[in-house]
Amino acid sequence: MKSPVVIVGAGLGGVRLAENLRNGGHAGPVTMLGAEPHPPYDRPPLSKTVLTGVDERVDLKPADFFADADIDLRTSTRVTAVDPGTHTVTVESGAGIERIEYGTLVLATGLVARRFPGTDGVAGVHVIRTVDDALALRDAIGSASRVAVIGAGFIGCEVTASLHSLGVPVTLIEPTPAPLSAALGVTVSEMVTRRHREAGVDLRVGVGVDEVLVADGRASGVALSDGSRVAADLVVAGIGGYPDLDYLAGSGIEIADRASGGGVACDGVGRTSVPDVYAVGDCANWHDADGTPHRVEHWTHTVDHAALTAAHLLEHAITHQVVPYFWSDQYGLKFQMLGSPRADDEVHVVDDDGRKFLAYYSREGLLTGVVGAGRVGRLMKARQYLVSPTPISTLLD
Ligand SMILES: Cc1cc2nc3c(=O)[nH]c(=O)nc-3n(C[C@H](O)[C@H](O)[C@H](O)COP(=O)(O)OP(=O)(O)OC[C@H]3O[C@@H](n4cnc5c(N)ncnc54)[C@H](O)[C@@H]3O)c2cc1C
Repeated sequence: MKSPVVIVGAGLGGVRLAENLRNGGHAGPVTMLGAEPHPPYDRPPLSKTVLTGVDERVDLKPADFFADADIDLRTSTRVTAVDPGTHTVTVESGAGIERIEYGTLVLATGLVARRFPGTDGVAGVHVIRTVDDALALRDAIGSASRVAVIGAGFIGCEVTASLHSLGVPVTLIEPTPAPLSAALGVTVSEMVTRRHREAGVDLRVGVGVDEVLVADGRASGVALSDGSRVAADLVVAGIGGYPDLDYLAGSGIEIADRASGGGVACDGVGRTSVPDVYAVGDCANWHDADGTPHRVEHWTHTVDHAALTAAHLLEHAITHQVVPYFWSDQYGLKFQMLGSPRADDEVHVVDDDGRKFLAYYSREGLLTGVVGAGRVGRLMKARQYLVSPTPISTLLD
């Protein structure tokens, strides 16, 4: 690997990459540039313990980690351009504009939350991607009489569950017929839906939000595509995020097409189309083991990317076996997904007590994934069967 190493983005992917390089014996200079003013922090707690106020700790590393590991962490420093020709990045910080030379560049710039159209600057409309977003939402909850959550993906569902645990009435609005059905299929989606309905959440499915209603500069509710309206003094848009890659304009670094998820196009170790430039985490579109390009927005995926890219840069043998994994905490239950289940797979529910469940997914007779709630041990045991092709019959006998 060429020195110095410069990492753009001081989030999970950037930190894990730097840590893996150091643990793997790399002694050369490592600089990490992060746009946010905060030291690197973890995002999963934002929609869970931070929102509920149970635990505000989010730091990814102890305060002295970066100095001890000789990693030059620069916060409030945004990269605005990359020039592979001169091997430099342009940064803007409180100190002004500066160019920094790299030998190896790693892009780990994550996502930006998508805002509901027309709501920029409207008070009472929130997203949740950064710690500042989470704290702003939490501060606003106290005075809310009803919250409208737009989008029942994992984050929308988690925010709903967290608000519900605080006793705040929530209306959760989802345009598809059932939450998460596009990702997990109808059978498992119905099990997740049950949790929300039992909790008393006002769940509106098969209906979109046409407009966020505004009165005196503040959100006052949402107008739905079926003509109805929901009065709400807080609106949370859980409608996903996108990689903000404007800083790569003119760099020649290939961006993946939308159909495969967008993001920085990479091979199976994070190499981009430009020599000495790599990408990891939510902003990266990798060719994973099955050869298909895709962009995944999961914590463990980012950790796997950072491990694989670091091993490649260190010229270590790659022994890391990737099995996609995702979790979500809702209503006191841990929802988990292992593997790459698809909505059109065959679903085998092997355990359902009305609250906790476990389901295997298969395609052409082979296990593709496992999804469960409150079944941590059994789900994790199935990981071994997802490392290589396994007939579903092995698990159903
Ligand atoms: C609310 C929330 C809850 C989540 N819960 C779960 C969960 O339960 N389970 C799960 O598997 N995953 C969860 N995730 C997803 C997980 O947190 C992400 O997959 C992970 O954070 C991705 O890491 P990353 O390093 O790619 O990006 P990030 O963590 O987003 O870090 C990227 C950093 O780069 C910085 N940056 C961006 N552009 C620039 C620039 N031009 N110059 C300098 N710095 C820049 C950003 O400010 C940011 O700090 C959750 C995410 C959110 C937002």
